[in-house]
Amino acid sequence: MNLHATLPGPTCIVRIEGISARERMERIEEFTDERNKSWCIHCGRSLVTVETNLDHVPTKSLLTKPRPHHLPVVEICRECNNGFSRDEQYFVTFLSCVLSGSVDPAKQPISSAARALTKSAGLASLMERAKREYRTRGGEDKVFWVPDMERVHRVVLKNARGHAYYEFGEPMLDEPVNVWASPLEFMTASERADFEGFGGGGLVGLPEVGSRMMTRVFSGLDLSEGWISVQAGRYRYSVEQDGGIVVRSIIAEYLATEVRW
Ligand SMILES: [Zn+2]
Repeated sequence: MNLHATLPGPTCIVRIEGISARERMERIEEFTDERNKSWCIHCGRSLVTVETNLDHVPTKSLLTKPRPHHLPVVEICRECNNGFSRDEQYFVTFLSCVLSGSVDPAKQPISSAARALTKSAGLASLMERAKREYRTRGGEDKVFWVPDMERVHRVVLKNARGHAYYEFGEPMLDEPVNVWASPLEFMTASERADFEGFGGGGLVGLPEVGSRMMTRVFSGLDLSEGWISVQAGRYRYSVEQDGGIVVRSIIAEYLATEVRW
């Protein structure tokens, strides 16, 4: 796996204020193969035999209020849903701390992170430990952040499975070939262009008839330059079929993620 062990500090704060107007995602019906709807996309268990939940992908706490209507949801088993919640809380809180350059609850741009830091001393101390400060030779104080990449990757993979299923109706039960996450600012200009798909990548062949992605391709719904915008400035993703499936996301216009099958 291609891991970046560190994330930079407040030099990379992105502007996420000013997103106030309610945006909406369009509601898109899909009519893919019913047989693919039988299993939990995370553990593969049959959904008729277990309790299930509708899971938001991405988690709503990554978005700012007012949240868009018609957010993507997938039905998964309750056990998997509960199993992800601590990792998601860690992920959201970590992201908020990096964006604010602080573990102070009062300074968090993501409200659920502020609540979590106030409520959980354990989480607050995890964030304190993830924050590293150093002084440059020139005497400048800098911060960088070292996340628990296993937890970050579990959330990235969970989201990718959700996006692939929501868009293409494909349950990606196999282990992926690669899971990757990195701040955008760590990428070179050409890596960034490649990641964004400006190099003319995009869809190879057409998605399955009846899939949401097929509807998007023909209607342009929520689709811009191949990216599906959940909320401007907060979360966008793309799903490509290129031999296997590649799911990318950009979170808070700060963190880039990619999962390949
Ligand atoms: Zn499950």
